Amino acid sequence: MPAVTADTLLLPKVHATPTDALARPLLQLTTAPRAHEGLGFPVRRAFAGVRPADLSPFIHMDQLGEIDYPPGEPRGTDWHPHRGFETVTYMIDGTLQHEDSHGGGGMITNGATQWMTAGSGILHIETPPEELVISGGLFHGVQLWVNLPARDKMIAPRYQSLEADEVTLLASEDGGVLLRLIAGTISDHHGPGATHSPITVVHATIAAGARLVLAWHPEFNALAYVLAGRGTVGVDEVGVSVGQLARFGAGDTLVLHGHPTDPLDVLLLGGRPIDEPVAAYGPFVMNTRAELQQAIDDYHAGVLGTIPAGGLRPYRH
Ligand code: MN
Repeated sequence: MPAVTADTLLLPKVHATPTDALARPLLQLTTAPRAHEGLGFPVRRAFAGVRPADLSPFIHMDQLGEIDYPPGEPRGTDWHPHRGFETVTYMIDGTLQHEDSHGGGGMITNGATQWMTAGSGILHIETPPEELVISGGLFHGVQLWVNLPARDKMIAPRYQSLEADEVTLLASEDGGVLLRLIAGTISDHHGPGATHSPITVVHATIAAGARLVLAWHPEFNALAYVLAGRGTVGVDEVGVSVGQLARFGAGDTLVLHGHPTDPLDVLLLGGRPIDEPVAAYGPFVMNTRAELQQAIDDYHAGVLGTIPAGGLRPYRH
């Protein structure tokens, strides 16, 4: 991650002592199973075991790594389609190269987020760049799938490239907490990501022994996924460690602590649930089975795009 610069803002002073009535209780704590994705890169399935209705407007999330690859081992995906939702790729360490069927492409690296609205459909490839495949190295990120409301499922595809220095940085007065606000609102501060339904996405680093007491929109759900380190969640201070997801209940405040000897890195996610039926299959997320079948038919008919001649291919060594 790049160093934090002087752009750092101060969070408004938070409650010195959260009241139990406001703090959201811990409802569910799950541990992400390990799996492999794409051409065989290791992931943790962050949302496994949580009911889809409790995740809405989020659908799926993989933690990519963290892994320190030997030379020749880094891998990603080959070309594949999406329709009906958004993929949000946040690279904490390492680089992911992408290219799509509309001629777009680039590098996601060093704290950057790529917010891709698949909308009516796109084909793309996501792969470590050749030099990283040759050298090996640290690779750590997240890919989050955000649903689109029915009215926006067939909009034109779009990218938002949110570089690390565009993210809104907020720090507590004692410096014990750093927030990187990627999208949404915290108090009067806004993240750069544009969304199709109200969402907050923030990467929080809570120093060893530090406490985060954060105002959270009462109409949003609230999820905290541990990217690294350990600490506690809620006023009852339930212990959490890397790969665990905490789902909170109603309230307007989130409380998290760093472990007395270790920092806690969490991705905090929330949004207003999209109260519509979901029909999902592989890389397509629609509202009905008929729309899902149409997506599959359109993909096979080339409507979602075709692999460009001379397009990027997975690097093999
Ligand atoms: Mn993809």
